[in-house]
Amino acid sequence: MRWVAASTARPRWLEIAVPAHAEAVEAVSEILSRYGHNGIAVEIPLAPRGGADHTVKAYLVEDVDSFAKVSDARDALGHLQAFGLGPIGELAVRTVEDEDWLESWKATVTPVRIGRFLVRPTWSDASAPDAITIALDPGTAFGTGLHPTTQQCLEAVSYMDVEGLRVLDVGTGSGILAIAAAKRGAREVVGVDTDPLAVRAAKENAEANGVTVDARPGSAENVDGAFDVVLANLVGPVLVQVAPHLRARLRPSGSLVAAGITTQAERDVLSAFVAEGLGIVDRDERSDWVRLVMTA
Ligand code: SAH
Repeated sequence: MRWVAASTARPRWLEIAVPAHAEAVEAVSEILSRYGHNGIAVEIPLAPRGGADHTVKAYLVEDVDSFAKVSDARDALGHLQAFGLGPIGELAVRTVEDEDWLESWKATVTPVRIGRFLVRPTWSDASAPDAITIALDPGTAFGTGLHPTTQQCLEAVSYMDVEGLRVLDVGTGSGILAIAAAKRGAREVVGVDTDPLAVRAAKENAEANGVTVDARPGSAENVDGAFDVVLANLVGPVLVQVAPHLRARLRPSGSLVAAGITTQAERDVLSAFVAEGLGIVDRDERSDWVRLVMTA
């Protein structure tokens, strides 16, 4: 999650718009989010007609590098086509004034309901009587709702009873899962991330949500002690790498929630955890992403 402040009083923004087929939206969003500021917006057609009927938009400040960035984005999209994803249309660029951009972008960022949680942008006052609200400054998080892997982990935190427990969130990012655990009454929540910007964001977000998260730079091997619940929304190869450290932080009969696992990577990830003496208690699969809940 990144918020990049504009350096001049009235910057000019470039809007990059790419028409995409529904099945290519996620991949196109991922590419555009590398170049844009404050995430991406996806326009979904009211009446789907197939083909490239969605539009993915990203915004970047017009500066000396913007031409190269647009050209890099175009190249990366060309490679996507080569992978045989659904049709992707021509990338279009236009200049927008700052206020126009901000308002139109804000309008695309809507609250998301997941399990007991309502995740909303900081400027929205959305609430639901039965929901636990998490307010976040959207970075890439809201572009397409929430990432399926984040949703899967939030659901796990929603159904697990974490009240009074110690929770470790490895790869905390915006801190969303750590904040969710703290809001559900966890006694102590530690969040680690190898990206210092994520650590800062997680701290700020926890504070803005009125909860305490001990956010620190590093990974599972830099933490001591035993946790009742360990959350790890990473990617397959990283999970395999850190499996022994995640296991070492788990108290006997504690729960490990591992996500960010593609269906192709599932076997390798599972073997790594089985080798550590863990077994599956719950499995969820969505859009080719697998979330495992395991215990020793
Ligand atoms: N927990 C958040 C963010 C997941 S994105 C969510 O569920 O939405 C994964 C995060 O893991 C990124 O912020 C990345 O910086 C961090 N990361 C990647 N490798 C890591 C590692 N080996 N140890 C700790 N964090 C790592």
